[in-house]
Amino acid sequence: MPLRSTQGAESRSVGLTNIKELIPDGLDGLFQGLGEPPYRKDQLLSWIYGRGVKDLSSITVFSKTLRQRLSEGFYIFTPPLLNIRVSRDGTRKLLLGMIDGEGVESVLIPDEGRLTLCISTQIGCALGCRFCLTGRGGLKRNLRAYEMMDQVLVAMENLKEGERITNIVLMGMGEPLANYKEVSSFLRLATSRHTWNFSQRRITLSTAGLPDGIRRLFREFQVNLAVSLNATTNEVRDYLMPINRRYPLEELLKTLRGLPIPRRRRITFEYVLIDGVNDSPEDAERLVRLLKGIPRKVNLIPFNPFPGSGFRRPPMERVLRFQEILRSHNIATFIRESKGVDISAACGLLRASSKEPLKINEQGG
Ligand code: SF4
Repeated sequence: MPLRSTQGAESRSVGLTNIKELIPDGLDGLFQGLGEPPYRKDQLLSWIYGRGVKDLSSITVFSKTLRQRLSEGFYIFTPPLLNIRVSRDGTRKLLLGMIDGEGVESVLIPDEGRLTLCISTQIGCALGCRFCLTGRGGLKRNLRAYEMMDQVLVAMENLKEGERITNIVLMGMGEPLANYKEVSSFLRLATSRHTWNFSQRRITLSTAGLPDGIRRLFREFQVNLAVSLNATTNEVRDYLMPINRRYPLEELLKTLRGLPIPRRRRITFEYVLIDGVNDSPEDAERLVRLLKGIPRKVNLIPFNPFPGSGFRRPPMERVLRFQEILRSHNIATFIRESKGVDISAACGLLRASSKEPLKINEQGG
């Protein structure tokens, strides 16, 4: 059943096409067909994303005739914000209603002077990692580049006074490198001077480890890479992350060792610590050996239990012991307490439901 607000948007625009569907390449043909110069595309992107216009008739840099001709076939769809949940720690989870009635979640995370927006790149995920709720329902569909742009746009429009998004992480629902074409379009659009001119150095893409995608990403972009590792043997990783059966640890690490990593840049390894599964001192020692030769830092994330996961969070002394072993080998290691656990906004807990009622919850929980 489509989301309520989306239904409204559709009924307002019967017979018209969301012009964002043409982003990015289809816009060239559109303006060429209308006898307009190529820079109209940049102007359109600048007005939709830079200025946030919601109506083609408001793009006053276009002639009246052009605006009229565009409005005869197109409109601008901006996904309605259906729900905001606010955590006790200040993390905010936004639920957006996409044009086909699906829900997409993104998360705003304030932390030490930074405000990070975590966006989704797919609806659901096909990789089925056992510690992740998103993977439970399988993949529904890829998100288009403009739908990733829309997550940033809507988040920007709902910031508090004085707030500014300082970082973007592609770490929400989905495996970004399994949707490479749209994700790379998004990276180009978000960093374009015609939209937000966002620095690539302030964008991080997190992957379960798809070697071809990683190599390509490094050839084409300077964004930061985070790899979700979570195990030190193929046996455990096969169990936790079925993608490891296709790309085992040796292949993944060989790929990472072969990357042209510029000086002063490091790969972030994410390691979800699960009680009795991957949190032993032997695991920590093995991890040290596996990461040899790779410029790296490690984020340890104590597991966030969810109903039916079958896993537990390790006791804190075990987490600290793991960290201590890595640090004793000069590996920069940080314990990342997940933000927004009370509103299911933490890593691995995103699973947008279009059945969630429209609600603005400022109290959290
Ligand atoms: S952890 Fe990431 S790759 Fe694994 S199932 Fe969840 S969303 Fe997909």
